Amino acid sequence: MRGAGKHDGLFEIRLDCWAPDALKNLDPLRALLGACQQPTIVTFRAAAEGGRCDADYETRLRFWRDEGLELPAKFVDLELDIAEQLIHGAGSVDWSRVICSYHNQVEVPADLKQIFERLAATPARVLKVAVRVNDAVDCLQIFDLLEPAKRAGREIIAIGMGAAGVTTRILGPARGAFLTYASLGDRHATAAGQISIEELTDVYRVEKISSETVITGLVGRPVGHSISPQIHNAAFSSSQTDAVYIPFEVRDLKAFFKRMVHPRTREIDWRLRGLSITAPHKTAVLAELDWIEPAAQEIGAVNTVVVEDNRLCGYNTDASAFVEVLKNRLGSLGNARIAIIGAGGAASAALFSLKQENASAIIFVRDMKKAKQFADRWAIESRDLEHAVFAEFDVVVNATPLGTSGELENETPAHARQLRGARLAYELVYNPPVTQFLLEAQAAGCETLAGLPMLLTQAAQQFQLWTGRTANSDVMQAAAIKALNSDI
Ligand code: NDP
Repeated sequence: MRGAGKHDGLFEIRLDCWAPDALKNLDPLRALLGACQQPTIVTFRAAAEGGRCDADYETRLRFWRDEGLELPAKFVDLELDIAEQLIHGAGSVDWSRVICSYHNQVEVPADLKQIFERLAATPARVLKVAVRVNDAVDCLQIFDLLEPAKRAGREIIAIGMGAAGVTTRILGPARGAFLTYASLGDRHATAAGQISIEELTDVYRVEKISSETVITGLVGRPVGHSISPQIHNAAFSSSQTDAVYIPFEVRDLKAFFKRMVHPRTREIDWRLRGLSITAPHKTAVLAELDWIEPAAQEIGAVNTVVVEDNRLCGYNTDASAFVEVLKNRLGSLGNARIAIIGAGGAASAALFSLKQENASAIIFVRDMKKAKQFADRWAIESRDLEHAVFAEFDVVVNATPLGTSGELENETPAHARQLRGARLAYELVYNPPVTQFLLEAQAAGCETLAGLPMLLTQAAQQFQLWTGRTANSDVMQAAAIKALNSDI
């Protein structure tokens, strides 16, 4: 509570997170609540609804009946089954202090509307629904609860739990929700997908979001690791643009574009302006667009969508960013000999842009048979990565995920002995900022180029496409470095 003191808002105290013994004598809790400067919510979550202790229904009911309802908190949060029991029981309940809640840790239940009606049938001042969302498109069902609650003159909290539900946490208040939840740092998150109060206020600026705020975001799966929200939101904030950038964890891309993105078919009223697209959707997204720039068409991948009136337009800012960063370092690429390790989306973007510069490129792959189609398509030579020697190349590009933080962090597609003699090692992985590939290159005496400049350059191009203005690249870089450092 001391840590929370610098923030405005309501503070939720989860008694199910307390040691069971602490509940035998509530005097310390009463003293704590009395001393708290901020208004509080007290709750005692059932294990079946995400609670951290296994107190059964009878124990919880007894707790509320005997002492819980009298605690000096602004609100008490009672599960629907407890509230329904209290309605019919003896004794009076001050329903103006009650949040009546329903949680589902697994899914959005098919009977969500009926559950909402049961909540609405209680006299509780605030109704709360928090259900697990497994695909971003399920957030529609959460937002759909806000309107009926408003019509019934009720306050409502509607949360989609899990990474795919983050949208509801960020946009909920602007769309009429009574409140949203945040943790006091990741360690203290009490529900899946809950983001920290710092992130919610400093990165997403949730208090400034209104129905007029322009929406942008990142579509992929997973998206939780991405630093693009930090980069783009910092750029919006510094340029005083009323826009927010949200991570959308999308499983069913078609459904997401139909129901939430395309202006002609979407079921949500919002000022959506643009999207970044990342793995695994960069190719599949082509089928959802009305117009695709020729470069993106040739590459076969779109990483940027712009909503222009009723049309969706696709671009690829990876390709131009890849070559812009390289030219900034080497100048002209006219006679450069480039080795690209990998034959995926990033390699395609690199090859396309190198072709425009008349540079010569060769790909190095782990599976020659699998890569044949790719090599034929780009009319380039492919070589086996296992026996590769890069001495003859000006630039060696890591266009594989090897080295990315997590399981692959200690891996590299090439070692120092292979890289010796090459001029420059160009890493596309940006997290961590210094990868094993870059360390091997340094040991081999090569110059190095890390992945962050390309990420920032493509992000700046996206900002330009969405806003028509030039991004503040220093602000974007500072936000990216801060995010990467806090990740370590
Ligand atoms: P893809 O999945 O499309 O392609 C990955 C390629 O790496 C495939 O050819 C794959 O080969 C190969 N690969 C994977 N594991 C290994 C391995 N153990 N040994 C050899 N080759 C391997 O990914 P992308 O092309 O989209 O992305 C590649 C990397 O580039 C990612 O880390 C991504 O984050 C980064 N990137 C960075 C950007 C930036 O702005 N800095 C922009 C875009 C991408 P196979 O087909 O055999 O599996």
